Amino acid sequence: MKAEAEMNQTVTGKESRLWNAMHKHNPDAKATVAVSGEGSWFTDEEGNQYLDGVSGLWCLNLGYGRQEIVDAAAEQMKKLSYFPLTMNHQPAIQLADKLSELLEADYQTFFSNSGSEANETAFKIARQYHMQTGNPGKYKFISRYRAYHGSTMGAMSATAQANRRVKYDPSAPGFLHVAPPYSYRSLFSGSAEEKDLRAADEMEEMIKWEGEETVAAVIMEPFISGGGVIIPSMKYIQRVADICEKYNVLLIMDEVVSGFGRTGKMFGFKHTAGVQPDIVTMAKGLTSGYLPLGATSVKAEIYEAFKQEGKDNHLRHVSTYGGHPAACAVGLKNIEIIEKEKIVDRVNELGNSKLIELHDLMNHKHVGEVRQAGFLLGLEMVNDKTTKEPLSEAKMGEIVGACKQKGLVIGKNGDTVPGGNNILIIAPPLTSSEEDLNFIIETVSSVMHSM
Ligand code: PLP
Repeated sequence: MKAEAEMNQTVTGKESRLWNAMHKHNPDAKATVAVSGEGSWFTDEEGNQYLDGVSGLWCLNLGYGRQEIVDAAAEQMKKLSYFPLTMNHQPAIQLADKLSELLEADYQTFFSNSGSEANETAFKIARQYHMQTGNPGKYKFISRYRAYHGSTMGAMSATAQANRRVKYDPSAPGFLHVAPPYSYRSLFSGSAEEKDLRAADEMEEMIKWEGEETVAAVIMEPFISGGGVIIPSMKYIQRVADICEKYNVLLIMDEVVSGFGRTGKMFGFKHTAGVQPDIVTMAKGLTSGYLPLGATSVKAEIYEAFKQEGKDNHLRHVSTYGGHPAACAVGLKNIEIIEKEKIVDRVNELGNSKLIELHDLMNHKHVGEVRQAGFLLGLEMVNDKTTKEPLSEAKMGEIVGACKQKGLVIGKNGDTVPGGNNILIIAPPLTSSEEDLNFIIETVSSVMHSM
């Protein structure tokens, strides 16, 4: 469907020189060129309005056009337009304190510009930590198939979706992958929880087979988002945390998508009481997308290893723009609004009273499973509910395209089998009104029922 496979042709009919992140060249299709946005909606240069049902790239937690955030950035830029974090500035100091408070433990934060960089930073910290605490052989990272952790070489290597890597491999050495807690397609038997726990056991087996003295860290999202909204039983997360502790393997929690309210808690890992990751990485909802900012928060005990006297014992890592004063000021204002407007409670309430209505689509012949955590929702689309054969790429494109023609942008991802993006994604801004949510529910339902 043309509306979905949009490309570089602008409304003026000229092909633009902008290399965007769409996948296929299609000279017949016209690009959406956005010019403004307010709340959950954006407007293109032809005046069409769309509800952004995926919050940009899952980042617009507070939606478009919040004047207070714009003001916070402008005021900071007037005061101190730039300053490097080889020294300090107030917004970064305050934001690091605030993150530690939200994470409910003593964390030290390194700022960068994106989720990919936040994860790269975590990898370097994990390796150096082990090297400086008597375990120089610990260098390997474990992530789960289907996970997405970013686009740079290390983050891509932790990303375990074949299609995203195939033309860029060989990836960085030392990145291993295990089965995700994906009960819908698990090869293990038993209840969903039992299947998930078997996936955790596989991870432990891998650590043993590889040699615990070689494994530095596990990186995981609490809920795999980019790989198809895979929501494990909470005992799985606890089991992985226990395994990490047992083998002195650091637990890196990638909260780039699930952080800042998306799943109905301030952080996704908070759904599992008692789990306190060694490192937490954040971006996207940290500033609601108003300015680029990544954060890598590290438990104080780990940070201790970087305080030792001696050559090169500090973190040999620097970012010119990381922790830009304006981005930190935006982050602080963003968190202030999330707290003041009780956004996390709102996501719980409306997730459970409104978005939950999309679960009725389980009756649809092509819906294999509906998975939801707060305002993060995935519909696993299948051709046949018994065989679970993924719905074709063409049909998925038609659904997304038909929604767009009705004024609703939704996403699709998954990589269920190489080439298969058979999970429909709905992740609207956390400030979406009830009316907005009704529009999403009605549009998706009517498009699906016309199939
Ligand atoms: N981690 C997760 C879970 C993500 O979904 C993403 C991006 O979608 C990233 C990391 C990378 O973030 P960025 O695109 O800001 O580099």
